[in-house]
Parts: sequence; structure tokens; C-alpha cells
Amino acid sequence: MAAKSIRNREEYWRARTARKQHRCEDYVCEHRIEPGERYIELKLPPGGDMGYTSWSLMRICVTCGCRYHRHIVEQLGLVEPALNGATS
Ligand SMILES: [Zn+2]
Repeated sequence: MAAKSIRNREEYWRARTARKQHRCEDYVCEHRIEPGERYIELKLPPGGDMGYTSWSLMRICVTCGCRYHRHIVEQLGLVEPALNGATS
């Protein structure tokens, strides 16, 4: 069964459905997340590598999620799990 959220000490991931348009905040992405599309909400706590002073929120489109955080996207149930060892 797919998890709807993943929380640990460093970060909090959640699958969401957009109610309005958002910009994907992956820094190399130029997609927009359109209303009704699924996206990933990532919350990062204060401190850490980026030195944030409070919790920060990122919205990431499923395409970027698959590219950089595939295991998370699978666990959130946004994509089918990749077949191990499958190549095209
Ligand atoms: Zn993106």
C-alpha cells in the first residue's frame, strides 16, 4: 500500500493535488504544476545544509520527483515502482 506521506527527522514528503497553479521549485525545472495535477510537497526543517532559519516548503512536480527522488515518488504512490534491472 502506498504511503501518503513520509516523515523523518530531516524532511517531510507529502503527495498533494494542486488546487491552483504552482511553479515547480526544483531549481532546474521550468514546468508549472497545473490545478488538478499531483505534486510533491517537501518540507525541510530549520538548519541543515541550507542554513534555513525556519521550516521551508518546496513544491516539486512528479517529473522532477521521478528524476531525483524516484524511491520517494514510488512510496507516495505517484508512479508505479520501477522494475528492478529493467532497461530499455
Ligand atoms: Zn519539475
